[in-house]
Order: sequence, then structure tokens, then C-alpha cells
Amino acid sequence: MSTCYVHHDVDAVGTCVGCGKFICENCNTEIKGKNYCKSCIDELFEENKKKIEKLEDHVKVNQPMVFMNAGGGGGASSSSSSSSSSSSNNGGMLGAHYTKSKVVAGLLGILLGGIGAHKFYLGRWGWGIIYLLFCWTYIPLVLGLIEGILYLVSNDDDFARKYDKGYRRMAG
Ligand SMILES: [Zn+2]
Ligand SMILES: [Zn+2]
Repeated sequence: MSTCYVHHDVDAVGTCVGCGKFICENCNTEIKGKNYCKSCIDELFEENKKKIEKLEDHVKVNQPMVFMNAGGGGGASSSSSSSSSSSSNNGGMLGAHYTKSKVVAGLLGILLGGIGAHKFYLGRWGWGIIYLLFCWTYIPLVLGLIEGILYLVSNDDDFARKYDKGYRRMAG
């Protein structure tokens, strides 16, 4: 006759479904018709506790991330000053609200891309400064030209979604 793995002098009444070891009446805990030894129950509780903790962490970590993504991840204070008199770009017929014109951004990129003018216009000050610092290499000039053309050929919605922080798509 097999004996309990904890109490070696007591006869086992069954085996634990968690670890498969023999357990006595004293060590046995029945959950939903299944036998568990004490250490397996502890483990089950620990596991559940960890799962709950993990879930809580997940929620805590994810919520601010959503907000950060919505902000464009620029880091710098979002420019409220740059929303000048560009209300003429408000495409009422399209049911969308634009605060940046892709034509202006495109022309700035093509004409003044070497000093990052299009980046400044789009509120990307960090990039604008980088372009400005490296203007003597002529690389920003080429990048600005390419970006300007890309702005001009992209469709309004795609451009706004990528570059316009004030862009709002109207419902309906
Ligand atoms: Zn067990
Ligand atoms: Zn026992």
C-alpha cells in the first residue's frame, strides 16, 4: 500500500492531480471533484495571483502608452502657436478638419527643405533643428526635396493622418 508523500507512515487515499503524488486524507483537498495536495494548491493560488498582478500591470502600462501614441511622440510641447490663419484649408465638403496644408508643407520642403522649414511648419521642431544643423551637408536639401514631393503627391487624408496633429475626421 502506498503512503502519503508528506506523511510517510500514513496510508494514501488518492493521488494529487497536480503532481501525481500520493496523499493522505489529511493532505488531500478536493476541488471540483479533483484531489490536490497542499503544495499544489499553494502553487495554484500563487499562479492566479501572478496572473492577476500581470493583468493589472498590463492595464497600467498600456493606458499611458495609448495617450503617448496619440500625441505623436514628439516629446516637445505641442505647438499651439503654429495653428495660424490656416482655417481656409478647412475642407468643409470633405467632412474633415485640417490645420496643415500639404501644399504649403510640400513647397516649403522643396524650396526651403535644406533648413528644415517644412519640419518647422509641421510642428516637428526636433527634426527642423536637425535639418538646420546639417544644412551645410546638403543632405537635408535632398531630403526636403523628396519629402516635399511626397507631401504633394500624397492624398489629403494620408498626409493629415501622418503629419497634421490638429487633424480631425468628422463623424458622419
Ligand atoms: Zn500535488
Ligand atoms: Zn499527508
